[in-house]
Amino acid sequence: MRIPELVHFVDGGPLADPAGPPLPVIDPATGREIARGHGATAAVIERALAAAARAQPAWGAMRPVERARILHRAVALIRARAEELARLETLDTGKPIAETRVADWPSGAEALEYFAGLAPTVTGRTIPLGGDMVYTLREPVGLCVGIGAWNYPSQIACWKAAPALALGNAMVFKPSELTPLGAIRLAEILTEAGLPPGVFNVVLGGGDVGAALVTDRRVAKVSLTGSVPTGRRVYAMAAEGIRAVTMELGGKSPLIVFEDADLEDAVGAAMLGNFYSAGQVCSNGTRVFVQEAIAQRFLDRLAERSRAIRLGDPMEESTQMGPLISAAQRDRVLAHLRTALAEGARLVCGGRAPDRPGFFVEPTVLADVTDAMTIAREEVFGPVMSVLTFAGEEEVIARANATEYGLAAGVFTRDLARAHRVVARLEAGTCWINAYNLTPVEAPFGGVKASGVGRENGHAAVEHYTREKSVYLGLGKVEAPF
Ligand code: NDP
Repeated sequence: MRIPELVHFVDGGPLADPAGPPLPVIDPATGREIARGHGATAAVIERALAAAARAQPAWGAMRPVERARILHRAVALIRARAEELARLETLDTGKPIAETRVADWPSGAEALEYFAGLAPTVTGRTIPLGGDMVYTLREPVGLCVGIGAWNYPSQIACWKAAPALALGNAMVFKPSELTPLGAIRLAEILTEAGLPPGVFNVVLGGGDVGAALVTDRRVAKVSLTGSVPTGRRVYAMAAEGIRAVTMELGGKSPLIVFEDADLEDAVGAAMLGNFYSAGQVCSNGTRVFVQEAIAQRFLDRLAERSRAIRLGDPMEESTQMGPLISAAQRDRVLAHLRTALAEGARLVCGGRAPDRPGFFVEPTVLADVTDAMTIAREEVFGPVMSVLTFAGEEEVIARANATEYGLAAGVFTRDLARAHRVVARLEAGTCWINAYNLTPVEAPFGGVKASGVGRENGHAAVEHYTREKSVYLGLGKVEAPF
């Protein structure tokens, strides 16, 4: 069978350059190669950056409603092709079709819709000075680089492209080398919708391609979604050129279940926050703190519901959990499990890699986890839930915060005063009360501490994709002392 070629998307169209290192795209459900691309060479990177730099001024000078109209057209195309795009995402990531139909492209389309609507409302300010005055202009920052992780590849591409483009910037986007299909499709759709050539470009490749983009002198801003170690490297490279950054990094988020919580809801949220996308979600509540009085009942119900999860072919309608993204990621997760058991965690259910093609790991629950264990400190990025117990409120707040991460947190309780009191003290960019992992585009999303810098989505993103220029308007005589 001929393997389909995948090429870069630069300056409004496909750009092939087989001189770059081969980039096989693997279906995680079967381990089979489904497409083959090539990492961008220096020539491709240069063409993409040059195209973006050339296209940005005219795009940035367009009326915001005109830019918005193009993005709205892209939204309509995405919605018209929803099923095809969901299948593409499932093929690329191994996530169940039941998920990709409702989560990935639909969320991406909402981001485009939201920022298309918001952009025409973005204005400067006037600052009276009792005579003279200052007015400010909200300008695009210019050329932005977006770099994505593999867990929500199309959503990440949209979450970065939407505010960047709506607010008049151009972007060169590098998807994860493991999941390049969605970003290329986004570039095609935006072009079909009328986006001028060069405004959104996609170059394929690994970390070296990302690094070449981040360090280019024409780049004004870098937005990365990835792990903390990569974030440190990219942030440092961007700092060298005094470039603005948005860093959406990893987490080890706490989900706190008080004894008065609705048990069934709390169990459901813990499962959503650990097993959706086979656990490959940055904001997952991977440290589930359960108050002692209900710990056994919680674990019993959790085990019962977790054992019923249907693992299988992600293209099957009834499948609830697919594989992990790669053999390497599966092996990392299994190594984490072995370490956890060796350090004293107790296996409640799951724990194995089923004997079948693809990179599957069973949904796994660990009990008797303590704060010092590796599994409670390091991000696993797989379907592994750690259950810890706690006695009181003060104690659990301190333990929840005792991590270098600060992406998200959840609280389950029927006592709303307590819920608000606790979230006010949790060190996290996003908190949920009696819910988990819902990230509507209207709400800012991002981390504190090592989990990141800046915010995606919501009005907050405007700050990160525009800069404010002050214009001093002298309305009187110039009083020179000379
Ligand atoms: P990585 O950090 O490995 O990679 C992220 C992206 O950065 C990839 O495109 C990668 O390229 C690229 N990259 C790697 N090294 C460099 C470099 N030196 N310079 C520039 N770019 C580089 O993350 P994963 O893809 O493994 O994704 C999982 C991680 O992402 C988890 O930690 C997860 O928590 C986090 N994440 C955070 C989210 C958030 O919003 N906070 C959301 C989703 C995930 P390549 O891999 O192609 O070589």
